[in-house]
Amino acid sequence: MLNAASAAPLSLLYRGTLESCNYDCGYCPFAKRKDSRARLAKDAAEVARFVEWAGRQERPLRILFTPWGEALVRRHYREAVAALAAMPHVQQVSVQTNLAAPMSWLEDIEAGKVSLWCTYHPGQTPQRRFLERCTRLDRMGIRYSVGVVAMREHFNEIRELRAALPAGQYLWLNAYDRRGPGYYAPEDLVWLEAIDPWFLHNRRPAPSRGAPCAAGEDSVTVDGDGEVQRCHFVPQRLGNLYSDSLETMLGERPCSRLKCDCYIGYVHRRDLPFQAEFGIGTLARIPLRLQVNLG
Ligand code: SF4
Ligand code: SF4
Repeated sequence: MLNAASAAPLSLLYRGTLESCNYDCGYCPFAKRKDSRARLAKDAAEVARFVEWAGRQERPLRILFTPWGEALVRRHYREAVAALAAMPHVQQVSVQTNLAAPMSWLEDIEAGKVSLWCTYHPGQTPQRRFLERCTRLDRMGIRYSVGVVAMREHFNEIRELRAALPAGQYLWLNAYDRRGPGYYAPEDLVWLEAIDPWFLHNRRPAPSRGAPCAAGEDSVTVDGDGEVQRCHFVPQRLGNLYSDSLETMLGERPCSRLKCDCYIGYVHRRDLPFQAEFGIGTLARIPLRLQVNLG
């Protein structure tokens, strides 16, 4: 049976109705709408249903919220993270966040259960303020990663952020060269790869079609209605979390896409070293060597 306490952990990447954000990054492909009260109520009901479903499972779970916007400025996400972290079979709850939301609620959570994937967005908040909030996470014992979209306009901010963070802190960088192969100069690439040793893979991922990938086997994505896909990038419905058996959905399949260039996708590839390098910190993008407090 899959729903057994002894089964391998199942990772769930959750993305519901939410599509709004407190920031307005020019490079953001989503979060361009203002969610109405009705949409927010729908989103809250979806999240509550997901939490309730998680509470009925026996299999160990790892959860990452990958919203099309900022989730933690909404109380219902903060309450969902707290509720999930309190469940014995939930090993990790992670959230992609801009780290601008209230933080005091994290004081009451078992620190090793929650980890945050924090993106610094130059121009949206002063770097000093972002770093102060990282220090607050340190004090609370909450594990987190820090990263930036590596636009050329961000290079100075990246340089300053690298200098301000502790030497051992991994700083991930997402490539921004959609405008063509000449976006980065060769010396930029040397510098960026010295900061993030996995930058090259993000920028030029190995072809994925036919590659072995755990997405769909021990990791799935779920939307607000419970619709399940193997990952955010292969638009093939596997079933519904609330009405179908997981056993009928999960299975080993090679990747069907030519390219998988997003961390939340390629991290599941079995032929790449990410699972070994990140372990239980995989969902929050925290390398194993930095996971002192992760349970
Ligand atoms: S913080 Fe994230 S979700 Fe919000 S506008 Fe910026 S990139 Fe988009
Ligand atoms: S390699 Fe990426 S696109 Fe392909 S199945 Fe895995 S997560 Fe999905």
